[in-house]
Formats: sequence, C-alpha cells, structure tokens
Amino acid sequence: MLLEPRPFSDVKPTRGGPKIKEVRALVSRADGYGASDVHDTPETHWILGQTAADGSWDHEKTHPPITNPMSRFPKYSGSRKSWGVANVPSVIVEIEDENGLVGIGLSTGGEAAAFLIERHLALFVEGQTASDRSHIWDQMFRASIHYGRKGLALHAISAIDLALWDLYGKTLNEPVYNLMGGRTKERIPVYATTSRPDLAKDLGFHGAKIPLPYGPSAGHAGMKSNVAFIEGWRKTVGPDFPLMLDCYMALDVEYTADLAQRLKPYDLTWIEEPLMPDDYAGHAKLGRRFESMSGCATFATGEHEYTQFGYQQLIDAGVQLLQPDVMWMGGPTEFSKIVALASAQSVALVPHGCGVYGYYMAMAYDHIRLAEFMMMSERGDQIEANFGKMFQNEPLPEQGYIELPTTPGFGLELNRTEINLIRPYDRRGIR
Ligand SMILES: [Mg+2]
Repeated sequence: MLLEPRPFSDVKPTRGGPKIKEVRALVSRADGYGASDVHDTPETHWILGQTAADGSWDHEKTHPPITNPMSRFPKYSGSRKSWGVANVPSVIVEIEDENGLVGIGLSTGGEAAAFLIERHLALFVEGQTASDRSHIWDQMFRASIHYGRKGLALHAISAIDLALWDLYGKTLNEPVYNLMGGRTKERIPVYATTSRPDLAKDLGFHGAKIPLPYGPSAGHAGMKSNVAFIEGWRKTVGPDFPLMLDCYMALDVEYTADLAQRLKPYDLTWIEEPLMPDDYAGHAKLGRRFESMSGCATFATGEHEYTQFGYQQLIDAGVQLLQPDVMWMGGPTEFSKIVALASAQSVALVPHGCGVYGYYMAMAYDHIRLAEFMMMSERGDQIEANFGKMFQNEPLPEQGYIELPTTPGFGLELNRTEINLIRPYDRRGIR
C-alpha cells in the first residue's frame, strides 16, 4: 500500500513570517588559550591528562592520566593534545532573517564544518522561515547523506539547528525551553566532570565524574592502579557523594566487565563510554554482562552517537543511560526524538557536556533529571565558563544548580571583541 500522498508539496515560507536572509559560518582567530574551545588549554590543564615523566601527579602542575582511544599507541599515550584533540575547533553559525534578527548556533568542526554549512547546507535554510525547523532538518540530513549520517556533517547540521531555535525564540520573544516542553524544574541540578571530586563536593555539585587513568594497554598493573584510584576518591569524598567514571572509548568488553566487578565496593553511579561508539555488537555483549552483574554501576554512553537511529541501536544493545550531545548529535530538533525514545523504553538520559545548550534541554524535558558541568579551570578548583571567552553571559552553577534566564532564544551574546570571528568561506560560485 502506498501511503505517501502525491505530489509531496514543498513547504513554502510561512506567509507573513520573516524569511531567512543569510546563513554565516564563522570560526575564531583569537590568540591565547580558552578563546572558544574546551580542549584549547595549556598542557598543564587537567583535561589533557599530562603526568610527570615518571607517571606521577600532584594536581598542581601535573594531573592523572586520561585513558582514551589513542592510549594504546606509545607515541600518543601522554597528553591528549599529542593526537590533536584540540586541532578541530568550534564553528559558529549566525542565521539572520529579513528583519535583522540573528540566531546563533555552535558546534565542533572549525573550517571543515564552515565549508559544509556555507557551500551546501545553507541552500536548505535561506529563503525559509525559522518556524519550519523539522522540514529544514529533514532536507539537510537527506541531502548530506552521501557524506554524512554521523560525525562532522551532523555537527554542521546541529549548529544550524541550534541557530534556528535561537532565532525562532527571538522571533517569538520566548526562551527556547518554552518552545519545547516548557519548564519542568525551577533550576537544573548539575554534576561536575573534573579531576578533583573533593573540590566538586565542596562547591556543592550533585556528584563528580572522573576520567579513568589507564586502559587495557597498561595491563594488570594499570587495572590495579585504576581500582586504587577509585578506592582513594571514594574514601576522600565519603560514602554518600555520587561518583561516576568516564572511560572515553578506551576499553573493551572483558576489561570493562572486570573493572565494573572490581569497582562494585566503591558504589559508582555510572560507568561511561567504555567502548568505541561503532562497536554495537560489543555494546550488546556488555549490556548483557551489566545486566547479570547486580549491584554494579549503570552502563552509560552516547556522547559520540548521532540521530534517533543511532540511539535506538544503543537502547537495543542494553545501554541504561544515554548521553546525547545536542551540539553534535543533530541539534534540538533531533534531540527531542531521542528523549522520547529513552522515555518510552525506560532508559535514563543525562545530556553530555555542551554547557548552556544541555541545560535548556534539561529544563524542557521532565525525563532529564541531571546535567553535566565541565570544570574548565586548570586545576578543577574554580567555576569557569564552558566555552571560554565565546559568550558574554554563559549561566554558571551556584551550589550545584543552574538557573536559566527568561531572555529570548538561548539568551547568549557572542563576545565579539574577544574571539575575533572570521568567515572563512563565502558563496562565490554556488547556485
Ligand atoms: Mg564522556
């Protein structure tokens, strides 16, 4: 039976609604650390996992190592900067309508994403109205399918989608959470991702997530050190402060199952992203292992997954907590579908990082009970903006809670004097 009516009519811009005049993709040329990127930090920042030469750390100038997918290669097993984690910076999208209102969106992808946005995806946005976001999203996703589906193309689509929601909020004079589910809580409880759970506890956070120091390539000694590391933090923060563990795609099924068993006495809330994201069979095996190990931490993952189709695969594999990043996985339009998938299948959802954008999602959906705050100060001892100098007015937590403003859109103003934005591509030769 053919269900699709014919002809499938085009969506014309809403009559009377302002048309989108221009999409601009920008990158920062600011000098100095922290201009616009989480990983753009000095080597002495905890997030790069740089130890002293003998592998020790003091939390002042050196920090615990952070295992990652490149740790198995000796050349890249030191600082995460050694394999270029900071080499692909932010891309900033501005979408301007014919009344001069401008929506702002942000993702990771730098000039490569800017190229996709200017030379291809803008085609489906300009001339449309910001109210027709699902239609625009569907056209961008289908038109980029020959090089897209996941990764960079979805980052570019996410930045555009965020800018469209921001612009539509400004058009209606409403914050973005009111365009989605409205307010589901007075303020957002946040946990801290940090190298210093003790300081996070003192600052009032609702738990702390620490990176795992060693992966399988560090052998049995590494496993023992991992267990001692977690045991040490559990003793330091006491029995009641929630602790989570981030494995950043560095492990395999057997190592993770063994680690989860060994860490059982230390009562971790969740174990995050142990496997490479495309290993769906591995996720299914591990999902069964977690199910059989009662009393172990929750199996969490998803910050490197994309679209409703990818998250459904993770749910099918037995993942118990999804962590979509609204700046990467497709933007708010697709995020709402992932919340529905998780909610209908009794899977928890805590947004990955992405600062203020994650808080707006947490505000809009009752199913989201907690959000993440990245401790971006060099030693994890102070509360600093997630996006460095990018915005003038990023909301920051106080005593473990984020309060959101009622300003239109996402309520963010670019800090243009600090971040030195340039537009690397124009439309010459297009269309
Ligand atoms: Mg993570």
